[in-house]
Amino acid sequence: MECPAEVQCPYCGQSFGLMIDTSQPEQRMTTDCEVCCRPFEVVAECEPGEVIALDVLGG
Ligand SMILES: [Zn+2]
Repeated sequence: MECPAEVQCPYCGQSFGLMIDTSQPEQRMTTDCEVCCRPFEVVAECEPGEVIALDVLGG
């Protein structure tokens, strides 16, 4: 199940939405900022249907 979450770009500070696959309890993904297009890493802790914690690495 995918759930929307909000992340903040570590480079430009812009927040934007991201879809997280909550079927995996812990995951890392790389995403590109929608504004400045720089890639950064997101670490998500999930329960099925819910994002518990979201960390942004980089910057
Ligand atoms: Zn950015």
